[in-house]
Amino acid sequence: MSKVKTDVLIIGGGIIGSSIAYHMAREGVRVLVVEQSQVAQEPVASWASAGGVRRQGRHPAEAALASAAIARWPSLEQELAADLHYRQGGNLFVAETAEEADELGRFVQLQQQHGFTDVRLLDRQELHELVPGLNEGVLAGSYSVYDGQADPARTTRAFANAAIRHGATYWTETRAVALLESNGRVEGARVVRSDSEEIEAAHVVLSAGAWSDELAASIGLRLPVRMQALQMLRSSPATPDLLRPVLSALGRSLSLKQLPDGAFLLGGGWPGTIGADRRSYILRPESIDGNWTTACELFPAVAQQRMERAWCGLEAESIDEIPFIGALSNWQGLILALGFSGHGFALSPAVGQSVADQIMGRPSPLLDDLKPDRIAHFTDAEIAAFLASEDMGNAG
Ligand SMILES: Cc1cc2nc3c(=O)[nH]c(=O)nc-3n(C[C@H](O)[C@H](O)[C@H](O)COP(=O)(O)OP(=O)(O)OC[C@H]3O[C@@H](n4cnc5c(N)ncnc54)[C@H](O)[C@@H]3O)c2cc1C
Repeated sequence: MSKVKTDVLIIGGGIIGSSIAYHMAREGVRVLVVEQSQVAQEPVASWASAGGVRRQGRHPAEAALASAAIARWPSLEQELAADLHYRQGGNLFVAETAEEADELGRFVQLQQQHGFTDVRLLDRQELHELVPGLNEGVLAGSYSVYDGQADPARTTRAFANAAIRHGATYWTETRAVALLESNGRVEGARVVRSDSEEIEAAHVVLSAGAWSDELAASIGLRLPVRMQALQMLRSSPATPDLLRPVLSALGRSLSLKQLPDGAFLLGGGWPGTIGADRRSYILRPESIDGNWTTACELFPAVAQQRMERAWCGLEAESIDEIPFIGALSNWQGLILALGFSGHGFALSPAVGQSVADQIMGRPSPLLDDLKPDRIAHFTDAEIAAFLASEDMGNAG
């Protein structure tokens, strides 16, 4: 068995692993990324994602990280020298009943408290001016002008290519099969390319998305994360620019956006079924119908189109719906960046920077409320119940 040495080994070349690889490599650190497939291939989350770039509605623990990420997005295309199909068209969250409108008022106040100063409440008239063609019954909206959307696979590959330009090495079609540990320190991983190889590293980043639990289990670490299959739909192209902001609703499972070619992209946490091999999925017809009908009701222009494609992405959902990012006190050498629970795409630039800061020994305050050590706060019974129950879906 051959042995290879690197400074930082990153397991998983999705948007999270590739953003970390880019931020580390540009500091001149030796980085090796192992990716079991190619970068951003079906059915990984960074391939399937809806690509919403929003901070409104974020969990308080993620608020600072989301703000830092949102500040990076407008210049990311230039930084990565790639067309990411990024558009800062805003994010609109609507209410359709008087009770929902009251709730939305409180929601907007909360967003302001999180420091999301662009978020404002729109009345009915402002709303329908912003989005002509919205269902007439929509009464109020929370609008965040700095939010937007981008293409997930393009962005993931752009991070990977930028990492490679800065000297990072990618081993694709290379599967990590076990973490290597000695006396409470993770020292590398065993991987399989054509042969089995051992990689020794000062820092091992586990960013293997929905499959991270398998590798953690190889050192006896039980992660409170479970796999979820989230469905997406794409329509035939409509006239472009009918819908500028990403649209979602308080009382509906929906995330709706229009792509540069005019097609509508529909998601919002509609579940699919995970394949028995944990690497495939089965589409659920009731999720397809539910998602399509919901979009047509809220934005009737969707009904003028055909549904062209449906797919699923496999994502890691954490027990408290926020990711685990950073070092673990009882496993030296190991850094987790996983459990993004349907909303990691938007955070990716800030995750990469913060993890790089932590590895380089600099302060990483944006990660303070996302530390993996909080795993210890959950009892074995809580974790077992979470892992045994079925995910109800939540994305964007
Ligand atoms: C349908 C859907 C819609 C979403 N919509 C949004 C949205 O609108 N906005 C938003 O912010 N977020 C959204 N998300 C969430 C976001 O896409 C994910 O949080 C993010 O892509 C996770 O990236 P990742 O790198 O952690 O995981 P992944 O993209 O899954 O990457 C993990 C990588 O690790 C590799 N890997 C796994 N095991 C091994 C191994 N043993 N050895 C080597 N490599 C391995 C995999 O092949 C994969 O490439 C959505 C997710 C889904 C599924």
